[in-house]
Amino acid sequence: MTDQVDTLFTRIIKREIPAEIVYEDDLCIAINDIAPQAPVHVLLIPKQQIPRLADATESERAILGHLMLIAGDISRQLGVDEAFRLVVNNGADAGQTVFHLHLHILANPKDSKQFSESDTGI
Ligand code: AMP
Repeated sequence: MTDQVDTLFTRIIKREIPAEIVYEDDLCIAINDIAPQAPVHVLLIPKQQIPRLADATESERAILGHLMLIAGDISRQLGVDEAFRLVVNNGADAGQTVFHLHLHILANPKDSKQFSESDTGI
């Protein structure tokens, strides 16, 4: 075990900070983003603390694949599997603010008039 400081997302996983959980399994959790950039804006987060995608190594191959498959599952669960985007911000200069790997799942269902594609700032 390494002495890692818990990230914001680990504190959510531990239920120390509240969040709207839309999916959870042994390896990952998905929550609604607190400041959504689209009508559907879910964060898919591995329970393992990987700071950035660029920090992932061969030993994280399985969890990275798992996240991609679960992103598809969540898109079906939310009824947006015909049109959604996956975004990973890697590094502060790319807009990463929480240094615990996460995938943004963004969708703008046709029946939603709230945002256009170009409105998503992610
Ligand atoms: P990034 O900028 O790629 O690191 O994304 C971090 C995301 O976490 C942003 O979209 C924030 O709105 C979101 N966020 C920050 N705090 C919380 C929170 N307590 N619950 C849910 N989402 C959060």
